[in-house]
Amino acid sequence: MKRILLAGLYHETHCFVDEVTIIDDFMVSRGDEIFGHRGDGSTIDGFLEVADREGWEVVPTCVYSATPSGLVAGDVLDRFWTDFEQAVRRSADRTIDAVFLNLHGAMMCEGTDDVEGEILSRIRRIDRLREVPVFGVFDLHANFTGAMARGANGLVCYRENPHTDARESAVRAADLLARSFATGSIPTMTRRNPGIIWPPTGTGTADTPMRDLEALARRIEVANPDIWAVNVVAGFSFSDMGDTGVSFSLISTASDTINAVALEALCAEAWKLRQSGLVEELTPQEALDRIGEAKAEGPAILVEPSDNIGGGAPGNGTVVLRALMERGVRNAGVIINDPEAVSQLSKLVDGEMCMVEIGDRSNRFTPALKLPVTIVSRSDGRFGLEDLNSHLAAMRGSRIDMGPTVVVVHEGITILLTSMKTPPFDLGQWRSQGINPEELRVIVVKAAVAHRRAYDPIISASYTVATPGPCASDPRLLPYRKVQRPIFPLDPESER
Ligand SMILES: [Zn+2]
Repeated sequence: MKRILLAGLYHETHCFVDEVTIIDDFMVSRGDEIFGHRGDGSTIDGFLEVADREGWEVVPTCVYSATPSGLVAGDVLDRFWTDFEQAVRRSADRTIDAVFLNLHGAMMCEGTDDVEGEILSRIRRIDRLREVPVFGVFDLHANFTGAMARGANGLVCYRENPHTDARESAVRAADLLARSFATGSIPTMTRRNPGIIWPPTGTGTADTPMRDLEALARRIEVANPDIWAVNVVAGFSFSDMGDTGVSFSLISTASDTINAVALEALCAEAWKLRQSGLVEELTPQEALDRIGEAKAEGPAILVEPSDNIGGGAPGNGTVVLRALMERGVRNAGVIINDPEAVSQLSKLVDGEMCMVEIGDRSNRFTPALKLPVTIVSRSDGRFGLEDLNSHLAAMRGSRIDMGPTVVVVHEGITILLTSMKTPPFDLGQWRSQGINPEELRVIVVKAAVAHRRAYDPIISASYTVATPGPCASDPRLLPYRKVQRPIFPLDPESER
């Protein structure tokens, strides 16, 4: 009977937000707890199905997983590794025939940029695991590195975005491990990157470029039976590390020449399609032009994905507010999270005027804005959800707390200042502060998609705008420090 060591480490790390992801943010299961994933539709479940079919004995170690968020604290990697090593030691009296890993592929922690590559190298330094096949599954939004390719034999990437095939991909990966056992042949991995970063919004597999690249990958697999799988890895643009971006990897027993030709064909195709992976967004000025021309009933919204609060952004960008001021737009509404401004204004009385600084004082993406305002009202910022089925209810329950909140007005622009980040998923956020959103002409919404349930019923039009911020769709607006240059589109003149 084959004995397989099973482990998981799953996090998509967003480097451009200030929060640090700590151990308490992770769901951790150890030992037999991992079998609790049986039947839940997860990647672990997919692996266990094949293990049962093949009659493998699974040795569960540990599975760590957290939702996407900021840089991971260094001790998370230490703890994972301690758990893993202890489990390996506990099974010291038994042979291990393979390792199966459940990964994301874009995890970064303090002190270690390429967490998955590091884990794989450490596994290879354990004597008993030096030569065993290492297979596994990972997310298409991975930054797939040379260390990952060197340490693994068969890591299989999802092929669908949205990820409807995560479990199926784990089954494919486990099937390849079964193939390796059946044939006695152990593949190796090779990878190459074409020097491209695409934002997550440009990596849907229903559209070009990913659709074309996946199709080419399938053709390569059919034409070369010794290439066991071709991974089209879209990359994760919000992780800043040397290998950030698109890459291709092969699980293969073919010759180096065949592998190189396949990878080169994929890179050439990606380069040809590089422009199509950048989504088009308007500038705030272009969006305001269109709003100015439209004679519509109801407010128009300017949606700002770069400052998407639900995606981990701070909700304090002032670029669109500045554009509204420059354009002299009246009857607009903006919500900005700024506890410092709230605290400064809380000492004043309603109707009083003062100068206030609003926005990001750390100047990370956009400078803060100093402007004269009149106090309209103040409150404790608590409100009940109007829509009990909103996404916010699932996140926070029906009573929402924005922290102490102040409403001010500057030349016809209403600014609602909160002290706690509150995703704009419920109109009670406005109405609880005495503002009727239906009566505003323009509203700035710091979200990507999830606001639509609340706003779509009341608006006349919606425009998605590009601004600098941690969730900016345009990679050129992000403060990369580590990614290898030149790379498209940061260096538009770069040639392969
Ligand atoms: Zn993903």
